[in-house]
Amino acid sequence: MAFEEVRVRVAPSPTGDPHVGSAYATLFNYVYAKKFGGKLILRIEDTDQARAKASSEKQIMTCLKWLGLQWDEGPDCGGEYGPYRQSERKHIHRQYVDKLLAKGSAYRCFCTAEELNLVREEQKKEGKKTSYNRKCRELSPAITEKNIAAGKPFVVRMKIPVDGITSFVDQIRGTIEIANELIDDQVLIKSDGFPTYHLANVVDDHLMKISHVIRAEEWISSTPKHVLLYQAFGWEMPQFIHLPLLRNTDRSKISKRKNPISLDFYRRKGILPNALVNFLALMGWSYSSDREIFTIEEMIEKFELKDINLGGPIFDLKKLTWMNQQYLQRLPEEEFVHYLRSEVFSKEYLSKIFQVIVERIDTFDQFFDKASYFFGPPAAVSFDEICPKTRDKEQLVNMLSGLLELLDEQYVWEMVHLQENMDQHRNKIGWKPGEYLVPIRMILTGRKDSPPLSKTMEILGRELSRQRLRDWIDAVS
Ligand code: GLU
Repeated sequence: MAFEEVRVRVAPSPTGDPHVGSAYATLFNYVYAKKFGGKLILRIEDTDQARAKASSEKQIMTCLKWLGLQWDEGPDCGGEYGPYRQSERKHIHRQYVDKLLAKGSAYRCFCTAEELNLVREEQKKEGKKTSYNRKCRELSPAITEKNIAAGKPFVVRMKIPVDGITSFVDQIRGTIEIANELIDDQVLIKSDGFPTYHLANVVDDHLMKISHVIRAEEWISSTPKHVLLYQAFGWEMPQFIHLPLLRNTDRSKISKRKNPISLDFYRRKGILPNALVNFLALMGWSYSSDREIFTIEEMIEKFELKDINLGGPIFDLKKLTWMNQQYLQRLPEEEFVHYLRSEVFSKEYLSKIFQVIVERIDTFDQFFDKASYFFGPPAAVSFDEICPKTRDKEQLVNMLSGLLELLDEQYVWEMVHLQENMDQHRNKIGWKPGEYLVPIRMILTGRKDSPPLSKTMEILGRELSRQRLRDWIDAVS
């Protein structure tokens, strides 16, 4: 191996909930780094400015730490090859694109969104694969300069060879080849000046001296584009390893419609971090044919890339629950108590509950009656109990589904925003406050008399609030 040491990375995009897929990729990278005394790098790929969220970056870090998957270099702890947040590396990416422009391996494209749409429509009509028609590929330097001087917006595209094939070796899948004619002249720098995933990923992997790229299978189709970039720059390539994709029980790619995908969800549900790590390890690897429970240290000792199992691993909640039970049964008393104190009855959580419950109780023995839904499932409520007289089942389910869609996109989970969002939604559909709030409150708490709804939701958290609504809708639909 030409690289001096094993340096691997996880490169999550902070666009939504911290995904189980990120933990899965991190685990395999972590194990590989530890096995070879190498380094794990956390790089935040936040070049999609419209979608990147600071709250999501924070949650990713919190969740990975909760799982014990600590990185050696990253945005929070620094390192020799920083910055580790791609949005802070824009100037570096620009310099490298300038090199490709100078070499003639890339070009500026001035086509407008409308022009590109027209081309795509035409191609669709003719039953062709949609791709950029390369109109600007051979623009003369004079015209390019004129367009730049006139302030015309542009993107930078890569000149993909028109024929030949691009191939690479995946360490567990063997050689993968693709005909170059099937690869689009990919965008490297977008019109907002930010690099695309492909460019930033390759430049940063190179500059951060990444020796092995261990990532999910869904990135295989991007790898030839990366290979072409390595070749254009004249850089040595890392080794590529694409882990099998996590799947729902129906074998489709894991998705939030069919499986909770947020690490926060599993934490709130009371899954132990070691159990989740063990479960994720089994998704792509096995310790032995007769042993499913093992520690991460045992995995590090025995792990070899060639043993990664390529069959589509099923992310089965029942299996995870079983695994958790195994861990729970083995938990020493001290850890059991510690877990409850730090996760379920943490000081932070109890303080929030104090603010809304203290005025509702006279003695402490009323605490669990009034606040039980903060610690476990609320009393089940039937459709008849909660449906306003003025509405029917379809209307109620539509209202709740509409709300859930809004909440799925609400990442800043604070009372004021929740209230604003719900007020807007209620006004839009024209429901009176009572009609609207009572069913939601009852689903979330099992009671008619909870503290103000948006405050209750804030305390309960994004995961449990959404899940209770989702479960109720699923149960009646
Ligand atoms: N930003 C990509 C992601 O969200 C990184 C993929 C890779 O590891 O190259 O997973």
